[in-house]
Amino acid sequence: MKEPLHLFKIGGAVLENYEELEEALGFFGNLPGRKVLVHGGGRRASQMSRQLGIEPKMYEGRRITDSASLEVVVMVYAGLENKKVVSMLQALNCNAIGLSGADGNVLLAEKRPVKEVDYGYVGDVKKVNTQSLHTLLEAGLTPALCAITHDGQGQLLNTNADTIAAELAIALTEQYQVNLYYCFEKPGVMTDIDDADSVIRYLDPELYAAYREQGIIAEGMIPKLDNAFRALKAGVASIHVGGRKALALGKATQLMWTTDFPE
Ligand code: ADP
Repeated sequence: MKEPLHLFKIGGAVLENYEELEEALGFFGNLPGRKVLVHGGGRRASQMSRQLGIEPKMYEGRRITDSASLEVVVMVYAGLENKKVVSMLQALNCNAIGLSGADGNVLLAEKRPVKEVDYGYVGDVKKVNTQSLHTLLEAGLTPALCAITHDGQGQLLNTNADTIAAELAIALTEQYQVNLYYCFEKPGVMTDIDDADSVIRYLDPELYAAYREQGIIAEGMIPKLDNAFRALKAGVASIHVGGRKALALGKATQLMWTTDFPE
């Protein structure tokens, strides 16, 4: 039987609220055994960009990463946010080591080809170097990855953190029994985002398609769930989506393949 591994992704809004972040990291820090953390950080990057006089450019909610924006996202994700998360984990006695995808060649990506929209320095993950992660895990360290990748030719790239979490989970499945958590600011995937009691406990592809069609599941939740279902299909053992409290209490949304949900 494969050894269990917990892979925890923290969303942008959680990262910005110190108390929420502390609680989310507290939950993560207490998970037993091997673990890996991935974090985003989009909102802070936009804020920093404006402070530096660089107006962030977005297209349909996605960042256009020109060379000036790339410098900002690398500073914010791989610097500020990554080191904040690592130091908070250290305070929780979790021996974290902060990484970008270039460190240990953990995430090799290629620049997205230009189609109708040129997203700039955005990378699609090509290869996960699980050996580097395994070496760190074996040494008792907890890798904490930010959403920066590289192309192997000296170019850093900006990559969606939800996609990185899915790619890591899929690659690590060969060696570990991977439990993937998408932690964000709401308790779970909900039928009414203003009603905390409306968390969908179990979600399968059919239900997902129906809620999406009705506009109940929308915006950032769509790429998140597309990534998550892709990971589930590829053999990731369990996937939960929700807030830190709901995750800790087992009340977040769990993705399933079957409609035969437990009671
Ligand atoms: P992250 O914080 O991980 O970066 P996103 O902001 O990309 O995540 O996506 C999460 C957002 O998705 C939530 O803040 C919420 O506004 C939105 N959302 C859309 N539909 C739903 C839904 N049915 N349940 C929960 N959140 C939803």
